[in-house]
Amino acid sequence: MRELLIATHNPGKLREFADIFADLNLRLYSLADVGIQTVVEETGQTFAENARLKAEGYRSLSGLPTLADDSGLEVAALGGAPGIHSARYGGLSGAAQLQYLLDQMRDIPWHQRLARFVCVIALAHPEYPTELVEGTLPGVIEFTPRGTGGFGYDPIFYVLDEDATLAELSAERKNQISHRAKAARAAREVLLRWQRATDG
Ligand code: IMP
Repeated sequence: MRELLIATHNPGKLREFADIFADLNLRLYSLADVGIQTVVEETGQTFAENARLKAEGYRSLSGLPTLADDSGLEVAALGGAPGIHSARYGGLSGAAQLQYLLDQMRDIPWHQRLARFVCVIALAHPEYPTELVEGTLPGVIEFTPRGTGGFGYDPIFYVLDEDATLAELSAERKNQISHRAKAARAAREVLLRWQRATDG
């Protein structure tokens, strides 16, 4: 059985990846599972740089093939903000953070409120070069929050194809269409390639 470290402390993320990699016969570990408490700092300027820093950092600490992701929200009318600063946009979190973003966009009309979620996954292996894959989900920033599911910016992120905000979708549906799911499906292809390379 092959091993893969998922560089996260978030059990929800681990479960999502476990679902998408279910048929790969992989043993997945979280950082807690392998006893890593060191935090690899996200000092990069892009999602890709941060994902690579984390994957390669935790690969060095663990000696295991390692997957790390970095994600966030990019709003066109704000020049791509909050971007890599999504988690602490405006120095805020939770409802205050959503309100801060909505206040910034108060005068921006519906047709100029285009946004996208981005997720970059880096896969670092002890023997192969690091691989990067990306998933995106386009949407429109709502004027007021709707829905109670999900987390972060989900209540203000309207998805046209679903005619709903991400927070109005079931967890199952979100996990089919999300930026993270798309990136994870691309990561699955890399893992399959690594397996074939190892099997010769
Ligand atoms: P992380 O890199 O996955 O930890 O995500 C960084 C930040 O991006 C989170 O703290 C959220 O603010 C935002 N974010 C990433 N993915 C999502 C999502 O699926 N829904 C809502 N917010 C998200």
